[in-house]
Amino acid sequence: MSWLPLLVKASYLVAATLFLLGLQRMASPKTARSGIQWAGAGMLIATFATFLLPGLHNLPLIATALVIGTAAAWISGKKVAITDMPQMVALYNGMGGGSAAAIGAVELLRFSSEGAAPSITTLVLGVVGALIGAVSLSGSIIAWAKLDGRMDKRYTFPGQQFFNAAVAIAAVVLGGIVIHSLGVPMIIAFFICALALGVLMTLPIGGADMPVVISLYNALTGLAVAFEGYVLQNEALIIAGMMVGAAGTLLTQLMAKAMNRSIKSVLFSNFGGGGALQEISGSQKPIEAGDVAAMMAYAERVVIVPGYGMAVAQAQHKIWELTQKLIERGVKVKFAIHPVAGRMPGHMNVLLAEAGVPYDLIADMDDINPEFAVTDVSLVIGANDVVNPVAKTDPASPIYGMPILDVVNSKNTIVIKRGKGTGFAGIENALFYADNTRMLYGDGAEMAAALVSELKALDGGH
Ligand code: NDP
Repeated sequence: MSWLPLLVKASYLVAATLFLLGLQRMASPKTARSGIQWAGAGMLIATFATFLLPGLHNLPLIATALVIGTAAAWISGKKVAITDMPQMVALYNGMGGGSAAAIGAVELLRFSSEGAAPSITTLVLGVVGALIGAVSLSGSIIAWAKLDGRMDKRYTFPGQQFFNAAVAIAAVVLGGIVIHSLGVPMIIAFFICALALGVLMTLPIGGADMPVVISLYNALTGLAVAFEGYVLQNEALIIAGMMVGAAGTLLTQLMAKAMNRSIKSVLFSNFGGGGALQEISGSQKPIEAGDVAAMMAYAERVVIVPGYGMAVAQAQHKIWELTQKLIERGVKVKFAIHPVAGRMPGHMNVLLAEAGVPYDLIADMDDINPEFAVTDVSLVIGANDVVNPVAKTDPASPIYGMPILDVVNSKNTIVIKRGKGTGFAGIENALFYADNTRMLYGDGAEMAAALVSELKALDGGH
């Protein structure tokens, strides 16, 4: 039977290769779907190969957990609306952290009860992995509750940072004691402290910082899994964990850069300067679909700015139809994508790709921003925070410092939204009150359809 461990290791190598190739394919929207399938196949191979490891106990329990987990993931994955995806990612991510923490707990308790003397590296990595995993679990649950609207976006109290620092130090000290003594009460206290730290760290973080936090917890989960993989001497866990950790770290840096925030300021300072927000003067001026269609039809350059509301309305197909009509008339149309538009990284790109919008019409924030000044009509559909000029002008604003799409510089701006609802950050938007902005009130898909039929009417019904 000595060939079995060899077979397991060879399967892990195949799985790791599939993870790598899958990740590489995810770099482009064209190959991303197959990338997910490759990585999924790798995960299947790694999972089933693990059953061949010698000395595996509790097989019926493991099989039951696998069946329940697979069914729950399958059903929730099928059912989830694309707009609720970030909450689901936060929750699944937290479960990864929780699993790493659980491995840490079981191993530490086993070392304690067997009186075994593992190497100091194993102990340190086990404790650090458990700490990071537990923080990621409880932190991700709070992030989920905030994203799902079950909890206020920010929760602060005086002296919060000192209190959090004290809990963090207590968790590290308890971790040190666990490494030294492996006492069961200390192990329990250590886990309670680590879980509390995740909750406390995430409570004050609000509004615009949430994408960075979710991405950071994702990276931490990967790291925790890799550390616990070392404790179990399981190569598949080490490799998969390191990949998630590395990819998550890069994504966190990209997101933080896109929002002009350092990771330190996301975690340790409350967003926005506080104090009274500046008054926004003027009024919101409504417009009818017929007038908007005429403006766009005779424009030279149009930029379409999608946001979360386009996802809610599922308006991407109608928007693409509108774009095609405009292009047929010789209008130059581009899409402007903000890195955190919607509720997850790449949210808008996914929707536009689904509708069939060619990639060369889609521009990133840095490329498109200088072009707004020469844009005749910017059509904002369901975007709010990512086009809010107060991010540049009001130091008291919760989104102050976040780079935005400079829609406010365009010659004319049309905003499609249902009413006076605020965006994720919960604040007024100065763009909606600007002199050259008009509001086309209504559901995104209905208004896009109305614009298409008005354009057809202009073309004599074609
Ligand atoms: P916002 O959340 O700022 O605004 C969305 C707007 O869409 C609302 O003002 C709403 O107004 C409108 N809307 C909602 N439903 C519809 C509909 N059916 N038809 C038309 N309009 C609709 O969106 P943005 O994309 O501008 O900004 C994203 C925000 O989410 C940022 O603050 C970002 O930090 C945050 N975030 C981003 C994540 C990411 O990874 N991308 C993750 C988590 C948070 P009304 O109710 O009046 O219709």
